[in-house]
Amino acid sequence: MRRFGACEKRWEELVSEEDCMFCKIVRGEMESEVVHDEEEVLAFEDISGKAPVHVLVVPKEHASSLTEVGKLSNAVTKRLFEVAQTVAEKMDIAESGYVFRINNGPDAGQEVFHLHAHVMGGERLGMP
Ligand code: 5GP
Ligand code: ZN
Repeated sequence: MRRFGACEKRWEELVSEEDCMFCKIVRGEMESEVVHDEEEVLAFEDISGKAPVHVLVVPKEHASSLTEVGKLSNAVTKRLFEVAQTVAEKMDIAESGYVFRINNGPDAGQEVFHLHAHVMGGERLGMP
């Protein structure tokens, strides 16, 4: 099993809620192009979209990654999926299809340590 260096902290603990970029967006302290806003889930456009449609769906409660998904209620976790579909319908990519993707940890290239799902579509997208 691969391990991280002894001096490295758990990667998902690197950012506090106060400094977390997506918590700042949720609190309205940072600008974003909101696509969908409801009590416990927010969806907003990715700042550097990698597809014609690229929206991020986040729980308003901070969880660093899927490692902490247990912090979220079952209802919120389910809403992340449902809001992804709502966003896809709103952005007119539900029928053509879309990618629903969560990058988790270093090998997945996770950059922002507030759990978020990418909803990407509007062109043919493959794996990974
Ligand atoms: P990750 O690799 O962590 O799954 O993806 C993080 C995503 O967040 C990237 O696609 C990146 O473009 C997006 N992002 C980073 N900073 C900001 C920001 O300040 N605002 C918005 N809207 N998106 C951001
Ligand atoms: Zn956060």
